[in-house]
Amino acid sequence: MINIAIIGGGPAGLSAGLYATRGGIKDVVLFEKGMPGGQITGSSEIENYPGIKEIKSGLDFMEPWQEQCFRFGLKHEMAIVNQITKNGAHFTIHHDGGKTTEAKSVILATGGSPKRTGIAGESELWGKGVSTCATCDGFFYKGKEVAVIGGGDTAVEEAIYLTKMCSKVYLIHRRDTFRAAPITLEHAKSNDKIEFLTPFSPIEVKGDQSGVTGLVIEHSQTKQRQELSVPGVFIFVGYDVNTQVLRQDDGSMLCACDEYNSVIVDLSMKTNVPGLFAAGDIRINAPKQVVCAAGDGAAAALQAIAYLDSLH
Ligand SMILES: Cc1cc2nc3c(=O)[nH]c(=O)nc-3n(C[C@H](O)[C@H](O)[C@H](O)COP(=O)(O)OP(=O)(O)OC[C@H]3O[C@@H](n4cnc5c(N)ncnc54)[C@H](O)[C@@H]3O)c2cc1C
Repeated sequence: MINIAIIGGGPAGLSAGLYATRGGIKDVVLFEKGMPGGQITGSSEIENYPGIKEIKSGLDFMEPWQEQCFRFGLKHEMAIVNQITKNGAHFTIHHDGGKTTEAKSVILATGGSPKRTGIAGESELWGKGVSTCATCDGFFYKGKEVAVIGGGDTAVEEAIYLTKMCSKVYLIHRRDTFRAAPITLEHAKSNDKIEFLTPFSPIEVKGDQSGVTGLVIEHSQTKQRQELSVPGVFIFVGYDVNTQVLRQDDGSMLCACDEYNSVIVDLSMKTNVPGLFAAGDIRINAPKQVVCAAGDGAAAALQAIAYLDSLH
């Protein structure tokens, strides 16, 4: 029986590991399906983590995090977790291949991933001008024109955010109607830096060695195409949270989740199941930033320590 099982080795999971082990807890195991580091390792640069002045690639940025945790005794197992169940007071971690691990408490930090459109050029130029995070990358396009794809709240809110630094934002949506809240849409419509291009579908992201150079869009009815000369394309067409591990055999979730399956937690990252904590991008209202995921992980670990103490 281990004390804490941490599922997911991104910024949230690694920070939880650091705080749990440095807080004196033995037998803390981080289960990560790949190399620890999380989503940010796919980014070519991060420059908004407080205290780090150099612009680093996500991979270089995350490299010392693991070393720091392992120094304090965090154990790492490269393993896919399929399911977490609770039997009485304890949790069972079900791994791929049938192996199980018993744990007194669990910190879930499996993150998520933004959905992609699948259009030509998107994958090749991912992180080289194609982005899913205005907070992360908007600043790189200061004074420049960018395109935003999507019709939900996130797309419209991020388009408004981008007008604070970009000279113009093209908002491209394949329908004339938006899923975004009417008030958000009103704000966007009254912003003269946003040009609505509807009903248009994105067709191809164009680019060269320097990164994105343009976006080809097609009118949904006339099928007429045009190319926007933009160095940045922001895609907001949905987000998948990795909460499948909470799904129980009867179809229910192990703890309370919202309609998008994000885990409902309080400010200390407690779920409604005693001993189960959730941190980072999988929790409700996550700002989806490294610094926030790290803070969540630390908060979850402190609560897990208090929970273990309460068992004695
Ligand atoms: C291209 C890109 C650029 C970004 N740029 C920035 C930026 O500049 N600044 C910023 O602050 N944020 C940025 N972000 C956002 C940031 O990466 C995330 O907010 C952050 O990584 C969330 O951390 P997390 O630990 O919650 O989850 P993740 O980083 O998603 O980590 C979750 C981990 O869990 C593992 N996992 C998932 N399911 C399982 C399972 N079943 N079993 C075992 N392991 C599992 C995954 O392999 C992954 O390593 C960027 C994101 C992307 C994609």
